[in-house]
Amino acid sequence: MRIEDQRRSDNFEDRGQGRGGGGRIGGQGLMNIVRLLGVKGTLIVGGLGAVVYFLAPSSLKSTMTHALLGGGGQGEVQSGGTSACTVSEANEKACDFSRVVLASTEDVWAERFAQGELPGAGAGKYVNPTLAVFSDEVSTGGCGNASTGAGPFYCPGDGKLYLDPTFYQVMEKTLKAPGDFAQAYVIAHEVGHHVQNLIGATRQQINGETQNQTSVRIELQADCFAGVWGKAAKAALSITDEDLKEALGAAHAIGDDALGHADKTQFTHGSSAQRMRWFRRGFDGGDARNCDTFAEQDFGKL
Ligand SMILES: [Zn+2]
Repeated sequence: MRIEDQRRSDNFEDRGQGRGGGGRIGGQGLMNIVRLLGVKGTLIVGGLGAVVYFLAPSSLKSTMTHALLGGGGQGEVQSGGTSACTVSEANEKACDFSRVVLASTEDVWAERFAQGELPGAGAGKYVNPTLAVFSDEVSTGGCGNASTGAGPFYCPGDGKLYLDPTFYQVMEKTLKAPGDFAQAYVIAHEVGHHVQNLIGATRQQINGETQNQTSVRIELQADCFAGVWGKAAKAALSITDEDLKEALGAAHAIGDDALGHADKTQFTHGSSAQRMRWFRRGFDGGDARNCDTFAEQDFGKL
């Protein structure tokens, strides 16, 4: 990938280093939590409100569980005027890189919406999401508080993507999914959830299917949307075959089975094979209409 000469998005917030929010995400008003990278047994159901889409590695399970279920109140996370982007050189690079990817997704999806490629979009207009970067903990607008262990996520309540830039290091070191395009896939996947939010895709459910199955359909669609973006950005960002391998490596690394789930009924994001396949489907075809994971009635054929 080449990003030097590319636009940086201004729909970006540096929320700094957060502390003191109690580490509890969701809480009141949270209907369910659908993570991108499955963590066992933490699907919370009940009440009203937002769905949160996570990309959280199971290696961070204990932190995640704390983030989901940990004690503490619903207090605002205090960021104290610090900057998450200047914490380290790696973070600085990660912030800059993320802004480039975000800007590229803005261009691609604005065009696709204007062309009416995705039915259901409000008046064919793409509304840009904001990327909020943070260190340690952050307060969201509608999805409670989150800590780094939750991994990157999208909060439909405020239309924002949340990312602790150190997650890119987790990908490289813990998930063994290195590479800039692997990182780009993370942003593009969360943007995919934003697209779903705009077109109402997340409100679908197939009769008789479990919530986990619906979750898998939603996550695979977000992977496919990420692929659609990747193809559209190929020329501008000089995306190579090597880059594609990086993204597929990441998609493989965060498959539910790769993360250690043996029971398929517990899958919330899809297997490695499925995630790679749907990303490729988007990347190869470049058409968001091919990403309709709800069109295949037979869940086993996804
Ligand atoms: Zn997701």
